[in-house]
Amino acid sequence: MTLPPPAAAPDAAIGLQVLDPVDPALLTLDAWTLLGRLGRTTLLRVPAVDPDPAWRPRAVVVLQHGDEHTGLDALLRVLREDPPRPYDLHVLIGNVAAALAPSGFAHRMLPGQPDMNRAWRPDGTVEVPDDALSVATREALRRLRALDLAALVDLHNTTGANPFHALVARTGTAELELAALFTTTVVEWDQRRHTLMEALADRCPCVSVECGLAGPPASLAFAVDGLRRYLGVPDPGALATRTRVDLLGRMRRVELEPGVRLRFGGELDDEVDLVVVADADRRNGVPQDPGWTLGAYRPDEPRPLRVVDTDGTDVTDELLAFEDGTIRVVAPATPLMMTRTVAAARADCLTYLLARVG
Ligand SMILES: [Zn+2]
Repeated sequence: MTLPPPAAAPDAAIGLQVLDPVDPALLTLDAWTLLGRLGRTTLLRVPAVDPDPAWRPRAVVVLQHGDEHTGLDALLRVLREDPPRPYDLHVLIGNVAAALAPSGFAHRMLPGQPDMNRAWRPDGTVEVPDDALSVATREALRRLRALDLAALVDLHNTTGANPFHALVARTGTAELELAALFTTTVVEWDQRRHTLMEALADRCPCVSVECGLAGPPASLAFAVDGLRRYLGVPDPGALATRTRVDLLGRMRRVELEPGVRLRFGGELDDEVDLVVVADADRRNGVPQDPGWTLGAYRPDEPRPLRVVDTDGTDVTDELLAFEDGTIRVVAPATPLMMTRTVAAARADCLTYLLARVG
């Protein structure tokens, strides 16, 4: 296959590392040792053994966020333990530099880097000029779009307690069937934020899978189960199992206002402007009746939160009430991806408030 020319010649020293095919010995290493050998964003091909054209090539993406290692752990386990596959498997290992930075798997991204899963720009522009991750992301997109993939699965962790769930940028049969290989809790990703699945949605069915918190054995077991199903069907882009799914959508973002100082749990004091209820993330994925308390704020200060609808409209007053220092959610909604870390709340958002759409 002839690749289209790159939008601009990437600096070979900082761009994407391509291993085609990968040395099989690399895949016998544990995740940490492997990442140390790779050193940077890597696209690799695990070649077919006894190729069978009925089994179509596919892709797995892991570690777009450096602290979300469950996908890589699960993939290495499946590749190590399970029989070889009769098709080419393409693997993108995302923000390796962030994963390797002290103290290991501790950073979503590094200072100065873009959020990799907000940097997939089909127009060939880069988020941060001359940044290695930005250049590698552009080149990875060019190569992934040129492959004849049956499907792509992108594995993530969440930073709060969430039910296992999948996200799709399109709600076609192929995307929903692909998601259902992992879970029947599916979210229609109606944001337009330059995620990988948005950038490839016109090329093949794509799904992002949220494998819970990084670390717990249940997260790893979930990812292994789903990967085995995904890698174990001939054509994951053409399934016809008609699995029933719960579909959530209308993702309204609850964002911090600029400069707001935040803490999870405890009392409001001089050091913070907002205290989010400590265990708010236990509501993730559970439909909530109106009236639940999200947090506390200073009634004499500007509101610390705003809510943004999918079209960019400010819908704060529809969703939140700010009264006497207490913030309540006043409309029916299902919170999802409620974080429990200040860094994630700042880098992305505090939570999404969703509605059942199917
Ligand atoms: Zn992620």
